[in-house]
Amino acid sequence: MFEKENTVDENIRLLVSQASRVLGAAGLDDYIWGHASVRDPEGRGAWIKRSGVGLSEIGPDDVQLVSRDGEVLLGAGNRHIEYPIHTEVYAARPDVGGVVHIHPPHAVALAASGVQLRPVSHQATLFTPPAVPCYDDTTDLIRSAELGAGVARALGDRNAVFLLNHGIVTVGVTVREAAVTALLLEEACEQQLRTLGYGGTPRWTDDAEALEKRDRIYSPRALEQVWQYLLRGLDA
Ligand SMILES: [Zn+2]
Repeated sequence: MFEKENTVDENIRLLVSQASRVLGAAGLDDYIWGHASVRDPEGRGAWIKRSGVGLSEIGPDDVQLVSRDGEVLLGAGNRHIEYPIHTEVYAARPDVGGVVHIHPPHAVALAASGVQLRPVSHQATLFTPPAVPCYDDTTDLIRSAELGAGVARALGDRNAVFLLNHGIVTVGVTVREAAVTALLLEEACEQQLRTLGYGGTPRWTDDAEALEKRDRIYSPRALEQVWQYLLRGLDA
């Protein structure tokens, strides 16, 4: 029994480290900031990378189990101040198994501009319609359970939320899905900023077709295949 539990923990550590490095390899490292997590299957909290190192650097030994009240139950090093984003989203969303919080530049810029994300590309159809929510109770760090619960409220039943002047939170049934979703949100925002930069008269997919495209292009199977593709890139 003890052996089995250790194997589960090791698999989760590996998964969190892979998700961290996939995000880093895609250029979403923000020096030492940003984190991915997996829900603990036994309800003890969130498996999350330790603080003080970059996403690209993370190995299984850099992953900690952090309880909802911030205690490091397993693993070495210091924990991230913003762990409540993860633990409070897990508390509010039983369907979520993985959470990503990063500070991607185009997503931050678009949310700060007040311009709504529009499906100028395939990518944005994963998120809109309806409009992507934006958490604006604070632009500071999410450093308490109360603030984390506010982020979870803003997220609602969606797959992503902007944190105004700060970053994004994405979620998935697995952290694999949450990581791919984070990459697609940043790409969608970058494509919109490029579109607006051309001037002209921007056009985007209407709501009905956007929803059809979401189902057709971004099925759970396709997102898993994207994850596998990204993982192969790490090994190459
Ligand atoms: Zn942050």
